Amino acid sequence: MDCIFCKIVEGTIPSTKVYEDDRVLGFLDIRPSAPVHVLIIPKKHIPSVTEAEGEDFSLIGDMHRVAQQIAKEKGVAESGYRLLSNSGPDSGQEVFHLHLHLLGGEKLGSVNG
Ligand code: AMP
Ligand code: ZN
Repeated sequence: MDCIFCKIVEGTIPSTKVYEDDRVLGFLDIRPSAPVHVLIIPKKHIPSVTEAEGEDFSLIGDMHRVAQQIAKEKGVAESGYRLLSNSGPDSGQEVFHLHLHLLGGEKLGSVNG
């Protein structure tokens, strides 16, 4: 499958991993938009939350547990951080493999006006 994040899971494209277990991977965003910018993905290919079904929702729970852990390890749990997931054209989603952006390390601008 021609999916850049599946290739990161397979190891055929390099990444800077910050977390890995049998179901979830966390790695640094290649174009960070905050001092802390980690991407958290399921190893299973799911294009976006729109296509999630059944057990995928427990996987999405796992992604949030991992996000909490990474936020603590990166030292932003107290200062605050944002979890963000784009779905579909109007969101500007670029990579069609479900991911959570974990953003922090500075005062973040508003995303809701
Ligand atoms: P989105 O717009 O939500 O689909 O975000 C995709 C994100 O993936 C962007 O923030 C990109 O900088 C990031 N990205 C794309 N390719 C790579 C890569 N090879 N390694 C790490 N991050 C990547
Ligand atoms: Zn994929």
